[in-house]
Order: sequence, then structure tokens, then C-alpha cells
Amino acid sequence: MAPSMASHIVGYPRMGPKRELKFALESFWDGKSSAEDLKKVSADLRSSIWKQMSDVGIKYIPSNTFAYYDQVLDTTAMLGAVPPRYGWTGGEIEFDVYFSMARGNATVPAMEMTKWFDTNYHYIVPELGPEVTFAYSSHKAVNEYKEAKALGVDTVPVLVGPVSYLLLSKPAKGVDKSFDLLSLLPKVLAVYKEVIGELKAAGASWIQLDEPVLVKDLESHQLQAFTAAYTELESTLSGLNVVVETYFADLTAEAYKTLVSLKGVSGFGFDLVRGANTLDLIKGGFPSGKYLFAGVVDGRNIWANDLAASVATLESLESIVGKDKLVVSTSCSLLHTAVDLVNETKLDDEIKSWLAFAAQKVVEVNALAKALAGEKDEAIFSANAAAQASRKSSPRVNNESVQKAAAGLKGSDHRRATNVSARLDAQQKKLNLPILPTTTIGSFPQTVELRRVRREYKAKKISEEEYVKAIKEEISKVVKLQEELDIDVLVHGEPERNDMVEYFGEQLSGFAFTVNGWVQSYGSRCVKPPIIYGDVSRPNPMTVFWSSTAQSMTSRPMKGMLTGPVTILNWSFVRNDQPRHETCYQIALAIKDEVEDLEKAGINVIQIDEAALREGLPLRKSEHSFYLKWAVHSFRITNVGVQDTTQIHTHMCYSNFNDIIHSIIDMDADVITIENSRSDEKLLSVFREGVKYGAGIGPGVYDIHSPRIPSTEEIADRIRKMLAVLESNVLWVNPDCGLKTRKYGEVNPALANVVAAAKQLRQEL
Ligand code: GLN
Ligand code: ZN
Repeated sequence: MAPSMASHIVGYPRMGPKRELKFALESFWDGKSSAEDLKKVSADLRSSIWKQMSDVGIKYIPSNTFAYYDQVLDTTAMLGAVPPRYGWTGGEIEFDVYFSMARGNATVPAMEMTKWFDTNYHYIVPELGPEVTFAYSSHKAVNEYKEAKALGVDTVPVLVGPVSYLLLSKPAKGVDKSFDLLSLLPKVLAVYKEVIGELKAAGASWIQLDEPVLVKDLESHQLQAFTAAYTELESTLSGLNVVVETYFADLTAEAYKTLVSLKGVSGFGFDLVRGANTLDLIKGGFPSGKYLFAGVVDGRNIWANDLAASVATLESLESIVGKDKLVVSTSCSLLHTAVDLVNETKLDDEIKSWLAFAAQKVVEVNALAKALAGEKDEAIFSANAAAQASRKSSPRVNNESVQKAAAGLKGSDHRRATNVSARLDAQQKKLNLPILPTTTIGSFPQTVELRRVRREYKAKKISEEEYVKAIKEEISKVVKLQEELDIDVLVHGEPERNDMVEYFGEQLSGFAFTVNGWVQSYGSRCVKPPIIYGDVSRPNPMTVFWSSTAQSMTSRPMKGMLTGPVTILNWSFVRNDQPRHETCYQIALAIKDEVEDLEKAGINVIQIDEAALREGLPLRKSEHSFYLKWAVHSFRITNVGVQDTTQIHTHMCYSNFNDIIHSIIDMDADVITIENSRSDEKLLSVFREGVKYGAGIGPGVYDIHSPRIPSTEEIADRIRKMLAVLESNVLWVNPDCGLKTRKYGEVNPALANVVAAAKQLRQEL
């Protein structure tokens, strides 16, 4: 008998290699195709994934990792926990109710969406309370299991684990905020028992329960809920193999102990890529007779695995758990990586040899499992070793002068010499702005015409001359409009940018771009992160031409517009051959060059967007301060070299600063503009800190995420509320964020009202 080759995949991307699901969903939502069409596209995607994995030789192939929108929403449907506002009256949940929860409908808004751990994926937050009744209402898991089986593939059905589900939920509207979500555990488990029973009856021999919440900082009563839940499930799980998966970080010692002591469970999955201490925990003791699912292939990145290094890790684990109990796996679901390298026609062969997308990672997992079983595929291993070596030594990766410059940063924390109040005084002498100055966040509406111009230029269908002319015309329109509106600090509108990270990445060295490297962000929405593969440098100025052109069109201050290093880092696939902060420092040095060139070109106000600073916060609190320290330091590096009279703005797309306010202040920007659409109260504390700090603050007064046009009175009211807390000399008046997704029909009247409100308040002061 051949030695068993135990390989496992935690989960797989749903969108398809060319975003087939996205297009099918959007066409269905637009009423252009039928539910049957959508189901057909989806079934084809599922079957090709199952077939691919089974052809490769994967032993534990997941099912039910497909979702029409989101796996947590799928679980809400399975449990029948539909909020009453969707008018569902029972029975199997169909598309109408499901998509209403996901996206809202004509009369009812969608459920809230939030970030899935520290990924860029977003899930639909369950809304629960004491009144919620649970009933088995979506048979998707068992249906998918049967569907795969009919295709000849025996799969491992995957469910979001019951405790993680509850801990990822929130109390429904009207329910006391202190409501203990875990008190619903018995009711939820009753449904899980039905589901598991049905899976067993359908022939499943393994199931996977994802309990990623175990990697968070948990309190002991939360850990006890895991113990209680699995004890309760034990009899249902008997006769079935169960793997409990954790991912995105390592576990605390207590969480680890809780996990490996769970009743009724036959195996445990760990993220060995992000889990820095996981190996030590396992070495410190792993229950005998249990399976270890070793997540050595990174599900969050696009780099080829270092197969030789993984084999070494796996062998050391094998000596602990035994040969027949070790399963080679991915660090988490492959949902968070791109789909298939095969479709990358524009990347050159060298860079391609360094990469592995989901389809290639499946092959890697299998190659590792075979190697462990004594069937090493020499061709795969030697090609991999050659690629690893070429990546290490390639001159495209290594740029000595960048490495030197980055090393030279040590020993300074790069603070502007003058304090913020004195700087603001110096700036005011130059800028001569009114009290409550008005500005916008950068982008103006992106019209169909603009997109066409950029696309045709990229495809070389129009000449550079024609392109520059068209963009100049657009800038001139935007400048005139802002002058007519009487805005104080103008922007050029960003017509030349299609994305705030890609635009810079395309002009920096060390970045590569894919054609189809899409990753699901939420629902049908995907992002295509740039790949940072080498040392980052800036061969040429990136924005100086457009900003100085715009400045030449007006006598008002024109704000230069840059994306900050932390945001560029957090929205890219980042190198794994050096720490994140080193890459961030390199980007910071490149942006510093740009800032200084803008200043030289006569731009006196420069905004450095750090939209994603908060997004990069590590999952565990113990790691926050280190991250914030280097992230904020990177920001300061970008503008430490400017004169006092140059005003540095930054912008952030959220208003939840309570826990990071000191870091925000430590960025030492002259003006901070932030989102403020929801929670005025939350901002109060931030405002107070801001007063002490002395910098300008611009909490958004116009919610740009909605087509609604706020009235002058409404805006004036918001400003009045802010003035109750803040000194008038620090307050700026601006929208929440960039205007690129809005239409001019909305933007013109809204901005007119913003300016009118600011003027009205200036009178009142
Ligand atoms: N300057 C960018 C814009 O206005 C900022 C976008 C963002 O914060 N996400 O589009
Ligand atoms: Zn924003």
C-alpha cells in the first residue's frame, strides 16, 4: 500500500480565476440574468475547484467554502437568524432574503459589514438578541457535500464554528449592549447538531469547524464557552472526524490548552506562517492520537513556499505527533490570496517563478505531503529551490543604495524641529486662510469619459499629448469649480489616478502588477493589490507635474496629494523575506523624496493619506504598540524634511481613534481630516486630545458614501456641535473622504452647502 499522503486545504477563493462569480452576481442583481444562471456559474466554479484539487491529489478537500456573498452570512442563514426587518417567515432561505441581508433592498438597509480579522475581507455581522429563534434554514452545507460527491469527490464540509459565530456577532438594535451573546450557545448548538447529523447521514467522514476567534485575546469565560460547546457536541460528533481550524495568528498558552482539550475533536489546525509561537506550543505538548493540520503554505500572500524549509518544519512536527497524524495544510483559507498564476500574462518569467497563487498553493501542499511520504517530486523541489535562490540574489530585489538609506534611518525618530502650534502660525502667515477653512479630501467625481481617457492611454490608443491635454482640461474644470464654490484650499481632483495605491506603485521600483490577481473584499467586490517584490525606490517624481500644473491655474493654495507609506504597504502583497516595517521604511523614503520635490515646486500644502493605518493593527493587543511605533515613524519620515511653512495634512477613513489617539497625535501632522459620518460622541474624546495637541482637525461634515445632499442648516449644525468641544481656530470644514464615487449632480450642491455653512458659522463666531 502506498504511504498515505495527507494534504488539506482550509478553503478556496470563490470568485473564479477571472472573477466569474462577480460578474454573475452583478448581472443577477441588475436583473440581467436569472437565478438559474447565477446558480449554474456557481456550480461550475465549485466543480472545477473540486476537480482541480482531486486531480492534484489533495486528500482533504473542503466544501461549503463557496458563498454567494459571505460565509458568516451563510451561517446566519443556516441558523435562521434573520433579523425581523427582512420579513422572512420561515422555510429554506432563498436569494431574496439572503441578498437583502447582504445588500439591503428598496425598503430595508443591509446588515452591517465589518473586517474579517486583520484581512481585507469583510463579513456580514450577525445581529442577535434574547428573542432570536434559531431554526435550521439553509441546507447549503449538506447540499454542497452531496453535489461534490455526485461529481466523485468526497469532501470535508466546512462550517464556521459555533463559538466563533457568536463571538463575531453583535447585539441586535434595541438589545442591551451588554447582552451576553454566548448565552445563545445552547440554542445555536441545537441547530449545529441537526446540520452535523445530516452531514453524517449524507456520508461525510470528516468535517471542519473554523474557530479563528481562538487566536484573539480572549477572556476565560469565552474560552470556557469553547469547552462547553464541544462537550455538548461530543455525542453528535462521535463516529465523525472533526478538525477545528484556527488561523491568522498563534494562540495564547491558555487558548492552546483549551483547544487541544476539546471533546469530540480528532484534529487541530494551526497557522504556522503567522503563528510565531505555534511551533513552541506544539513542541510543549500535543495530545497523542490526534491529527495535526500544519498550515505551512501561506494563504495570505502570493509567494511560492520555500518547500525545503517547510519540509524541515514538517519533519520536526512529525517527530512529535507521528507520521500518520500529520496533515500538510494551508495557513488559512486561500480566500485571501489571488486565484491562479496561469492567467498572468504580463508578469515576466523570473517574477512568476517566485509566486504561487491559490491554484499553485494547492500543488505545493500536495508536493509537501508527498515528500513527507517518501515520494518527493524532485522536479518540483529543484525548480522551487532554484526560484528561491534567484529571488534571494536577484538585482531586481536588492538595491544597495536603498538598503543603505533605510539602514541610515536608525537612531533618529524623525520629528519636525518646531512644534505644531508654531508651525501653524508660520503657515498661516503664508496661506492667510479664513477661520474654519474649507477643503476637500482629494478626488473629484470620476466620469465615464475620464476612465475612457485613462484606459485608452494605457492601451496606447491615444498619444501622451492627447492624454495630458485631456487631464489638464479636467484639472482646470475642477479648479474653476472649486474657485466658484469659494473653497479655500483646493485639490487637483486626482483625474490621473485609477487607484490611490496602484498609481504610486506603478511609478516606484520594486512593485509588480497582476492582470487577474483579484482578492475578494466583500460580496462581489474585489481588490487587486500590487506585489512589492524588491527594495522600493522612486526613480522619478510622481505627482509634481500634475500638482504644479494645477497650482499654476489658481492663486489659492493647491494641496499636493500623496498616499502614505503605511497605506501603500497595507494595501499591497508585501515581501516575506524581510519584516514589514523595513519595507514600510523604504516606501517612506520614496514618499519623502516626493514631498520634498513638491515643496520645491511651490506646493505649500501637502496631504499624505494614511487611509489604512488602522487597518494594519495586529490582531493581538500585545503587538499593537510595536506596529504603531514603526507605522507612525514611517509617516513622520515622509515629511520631516519640510519647512515650517509647508503644511502637512493627513487623512484617515474612519473615526474610531479611541485606542490609537496617541499614535495619531504622534504622527505630528499639521492638519488631520477624518471620517465622521456616524459617531459624534466617540469623536469627542479625540477632539479633546486634539485641542491639547493644537493641530488642525477636519471631521467630515458631509457623508460622501451616500447620494444624499446635506442641507446648509444640517452641516452648520454639525459644525456647531464640533465647536462646542473644539476651539474654532483648529477646526477645518471638509467632506468625509474623496468624492470619486459621487456624481457632479450631488457634489456641486453638497459642496456649495458645505461652504455656505462654514461662512454662516464664521459670522456667528
Ligand atoms: N485622496 C484620496 C481621495 O480623495 C483619499 C481616499 C481615501 O481616503 N480612501 O480619493
Ligand atoms: Zn478617506
